[in-house]
Amino acid sequence: MPIVQHGPRDKPRIALTFDADLTTAMQRRLTNGKVKSYYNDALFKHLRDLKVPATLFLTGLWMEQYPDRTRELAADPLFELGTHTYDHRAFTKRCYTLGTVPKPDMLTDVRRAVTILDKLDPHATRWFRFPGGCYDGTALHELAPAGVTAVGLDVPGADGFAKSPKGIVEQVVEHARNGSIVVLHMHGGDNAPYTDEAIVPIVAKLRAKGYEFVTVTELMRR
Ligand SMILES: [Zn+2]
Repeated sequence: MPIVQHGPRDKPRIALTFDADLTTAMQRRLTNGKVKSYYNDALFKHLRDLKVPATLFLTGLWMEQYPDRTRELAADPLFELGTHTYDHRAFTKRCYTLGTVPKPDMLTDVRRAVTILDKLDPHATRWFRFPGGCYDGTALHELAPAGVTAVGLDVPGADGFAKSPKGIVEQVVEHARNGSIVVLHMHGGDNAPYTDEAIVPIVAKLRAKGYEFVTVTELMRR
């Protein structure tokens, strides 16, 4: 499976990417009312107001939970959609606290997410992101027939379980450079509660430095 970690370093362009995780544990917190929503509405209001293009990586479970949101995002020319596995289990044994997809199930898992996305998004891309950014040679080999390209990162946004927007803003603004791929999260809730508050200063500060925001597709098109 091919993999990209960043775009060309000779142009002041940055791709902001947002992952929509949904594990079965997160889904239980939705069902029992502990979390109201894993769709960060305010984040998309800001991105649309500021006209910031972005690439979104959606888990199959998230798309099943929010099919109308998925269609709405797919129909918005600002955004392009890729996949983030079916239920956000990892493709290596030790990857934070995530469960693991057994090797014989890897290809089926990724294809399942791609099939769900294709039903909801007529312009679906073949970009794919590994949960937790964890992968090894076995995963790349097993997933080669899936026809997707893994999108890594060179700037982790640090918005997962953040305690305030400030750290997220500093992390992204200090580390983003020409060609950067920045990872943030679009599920909000208890897992990424400050992404929407951080995005406004991030966009303002990086635009003030002369950067333009583009999708991953645009970033990789030289
Ligand atoms: Zn994720």
